[in-house]
Amino acid sequence: MAGKRNQRRAQLVLLLLCLVALAVLLSGRWPGLEEWVYRLEHIFGGSTVLPEGVLEIHFIDVGQGDAVFIVTASQKILVDGGERGDTVLNYLRQKGVKKLDLVVGTHPHSDHLGGLVNVLQEIPVSEVMDPGVVHTSKLFEEYLAIIDEKGIRFTVARAGVARNYEDGLILQVLHPEEPLLSSLNDTSIVLKVTFGQVSFLLTGDAEEAAEKELLDRGYNLRSTVLKVAHHGSATATSPSFIRAVRPEVAVIMVGENNSYGHPEAEVLELLQSHGVEIYRTDRHGTIIVTTNGETVETVTQKEEKAS
Ligand SMILES: [Zn+2]
Repeated sequence: MAGKRNQRRAQLVLLLLCLVALAVLLSGRWPGLEEWVYRLEHIFGGSTVLPEGVLEIHFIDVGQGDAVFIVTASQKILVDGGERGDTVLNYLRQKGVKKLDLVVGTHPHSDHLGGLVNVLQEIPVSEVMDPGVVHTSKLFEEYLAIIDEKGIRFTVARAGVARNYEDGLILQVLHPEEPLLSSLNDTSIVLKVTFGQVSFLLTGDAEEAAEKELLDRGYNLRSTVLKVAHHGSATATSPSFIRAVRPEVAVIMVGENNSYGHPEAEVLELLQSHGVEIYRTDRHGTIIVTTNGETVETVTQKEEKAS
């Protein structure tokens, strides 16, 4: 028995060494310690158990779509779930997530809502937040049916709705005030996530009309990290919006070689001209931003590859 176990352990060590060699070969460099921890955790499915005073936001690589996982020592929140499928469900399982305190569907488009259906089916969820606009897709009907069937608390998100968690995590809905019926994208729930001195602005697919409303309402939009709206399309991220947010870090959630041409060069140039550090899921894979409420650190699944 012991011999067998030793043999198994030796095999594992060998496998690990092979993976290390392979990663070095593929990347052509020796990655930093943090990147190693990320890679090994990713390969072996390390669960996310955080100490008090730490917040992680995972911008999960789902190709063309959004999925943002917010985690502290006591809260687990998912904002959007990418296209229909098990990508996000599997990611959460790999991280050891047994239940979610809150799921936010920013708006009913399939690249945000699709994977939420799979998550809602399999993982117990305490509350769903939704912009409360009617959409006549099969997917949306299915999503509502699961929420109803499982008796999940359903909150229509309106500007002013907030959650203040005991561990210091604050979630504020900044948008919509009332849905903008002309565009489903502009009904996107815009969330400000604050943890100590650090804040994140999650914008869904909100475009310029929504940005204008946010600016007109005079909110404090200033945020350390901006999830760039609508996959970096030129219909969002106006210069005045960026001047108000003044992010240090921008995350663009976008599929490699997507047919929309996202992200738009003018958006990238605007961010660069403001000295913003840019991360993209098409180039970096999954992006994890960690904060202690004072500083932020970013770890990516992949070293940026030029395209
Ligand atoms: Zn989208």
